[in-house]
Amino acid sequence: MKKKLPKVGEFGLIEKLKKFQRSSTRIVRGIGDDAAVLELDRRRYQLFTTDMLVEDVHFLGGVDPAALGHKAMAVNISDIAAMGGRPTFAVVSIGVPSGLSSRYIEAVYRGMRVCADRFGASIVGGDTVSADKLVINVALLGEVEKGRLVLRSGARPGDRIFVTGPLGGSLAFGRHLRFAPRLREARFLVERFRPSAMIDISDGLAGDLGHILRASGLSAWLDEERIPRRRGVTLEAALRDGEDFELLFTLSSLKAKKLLECKSVAKDFNFIDIGEIVAGHPGTRAGGLFLRDRCGIRRAVEMKGYTHF
Ligand SMILES: [Mg+2]
Repeated sequence: MKKKLPKVGEFGLIEKLKKFQRSSTRIVRGIGDDAAVLELDRRRYQLFTTDMLVEDVHFLGGVDPAALGHKAMAVNISDIAAMGGRPTFAVVSIGVPSGLSSRYIEAVYRGMRVCADRFGASIVGGDTVSADKLVINVALLGEVEKGRLVLRSGARPGDRIFVTGPLGGSLAFGRHLRFAPRLREARFLVERFRPSAMIDISDGLAGDLGHILRASGLSAWLDEERIPRRRGVTLEAALRDGEDFELLFTLSSLKAKKLLECKSVAKDFNFIDIGEIVAGHPGTRAGGLFLRDRCGIRRAVEMKGYTHF
């Protein structure tokens, strides 16, 4: 299902497109995080994100329409959560092939609506066009209190690295169509613990941790025994499979200790400590991402996961 774009690849293309971004004093963070961050008022930032799903690239024709609608909305909510915010308003554009029934499209919208309702967002507009294949694009606004914004670039040496659940096999097991964005976890974290960096795992643990490391100019090691895996999933799949939509975040070691000792955390959440941020730019020879096995032996791993094209 994956299609390769010649030469540049997904992230190469994003790099090339950055030059079209205009600067404005209202832009706090443009391209390069889970959502754009814009000035809203004295107290809050506006968050703005978008995600497109294309038939035969992200899903196969005939997939359960309610699950597809759910996913189209949930992937965007997951990006707002990764910034520490709450989703507010969405517009939905859809390209519809001529053979598809209006019942199918309605079921897609119902799936989107149920997901939006559950996480406090409203669909307020959009566009409908004819297309060769089914294409769904959701653009979502969100808000975050200024003190609670979390970027990818804030990790510090000595920070612990956490994930919110088991990884790998999401595409194989169909979890990518049914996952719940970790909004409640994100809000709990920003209100009580202020993570230093956060991202949602869409490209795979190794790839998305790579985004945090590059943005923060730091390196990391992971304890391979501690990386939570979905049943029957290899370590490699847990590192590289995409679309887990768990949160990956970093916390100072002091806060990490408090988080793990907190009784309500143990009862309500699944925060798993998997490694540590260390000094050293990831682009240097000694830097990057390392795995540590049971005997404490380290090996370097590529900061690359699933690529969407
Ligand atoms: Mg993301």
